[in-house]
Amino acid sequence: MDGVLETVFKQANTLLKDREKLINEKEVHVVSYRWDSFTPELRVFDDGELIELDMGKIGFNVSQEKICIGNFEDGYTPCPKQRSVNTFSQCRGCAPESIPHLECIFEPKDCERCEGGFCEEEHAVYLAFHSYHPKIGMTKKSRLKTRLIEQGADAYSLLATLLHRKEARQEENRISEFLGISQRGSKKRKLKTLSKKIDKEGIRTGYRSVKNRIPTGKLIFLNDYPISLPLRAVPRYRPTPGLHRGKMVGIKGEFLIYENNGLHALNLADLPGRRMKVSGP
Ligand SMILES: [Zn+2]
Ligand SMILES: [Zn+2]
Repeated sequence: MDGVLETVFKQANTLLKDREKLINEKEVHVVSYRWDSFTPELRVFDDGELIELDMGKIGFNVSQEKICIGNFEDGYTPCPKQRSVNTFSQCRGCAPESIPHLECIFEPKDCERCEGGFCEEEHAVYLAFHSYHPKIGMTKKSRLKTRLIEQGADAYSLLATLLHRKEARQEENRISEFLGISQRGSKKRKLKTLSKKIDKEGIRTGYRSVKNRIPTGKLIFLNDYPISLPLRAVPRYRPTPGLHRGKMVGIKGEFLIYENNGLHALNLADLPGRRMKVSGP
């Protein structure tokens, strides 16, 4: 009899645990990942409202598919059609009016319809450093510092200001070719730099060699990321879809680093559009 009771208790306990898990696990739709100065914010749509997700405890089960993040122009409206998206995080119907061509985000087009919108704003060409590795990039001038923080740069300098996105892209290409510095950053290399002390002297040397060749703004260091560096090892880059579980180590740029039998990196910038099952406390 004792044996039977024990089995019943065990089964009841398992059921209870499963039920707790269900209650504590909720599914949310990630709509944005942004930085407010050096504070990262992951916003999710949860049960009819936009909330900031607490990233203190990592228990995320992330979907493969991305769904349009909706429209933010007049309050927040989720995508009425819940359209699948790929290259861009919004569908055409939800994209802001100021960006008539979504393609301009990556490669500015002829921009006839962009007048007064997204492309017709001051843009900046910049030099960024990830440890001592240089990179050339372009962004809206008003977002310069934010853009560099989003990328997790260690330092940057303004190289040129232009009145139009397309001109800025052309200038970026020209400067990149002239200096022989790439416009692409490598995620793997970014992760590697996390396990080493940031080479400030190397950054200053790289900056001086650019300054000797073209007009260059001040060198500005970015060192207030919520992470304690260097890490004890290079984190492993995990594919975004699937389960991420562990203890939060810190965040720099797009990478959230967590500990679970070793260090792992989740690309937070790849989350918007995905659904996530989040385990509660
Ligand atoms: Zn949409
Ligand atoms: Zn345009």
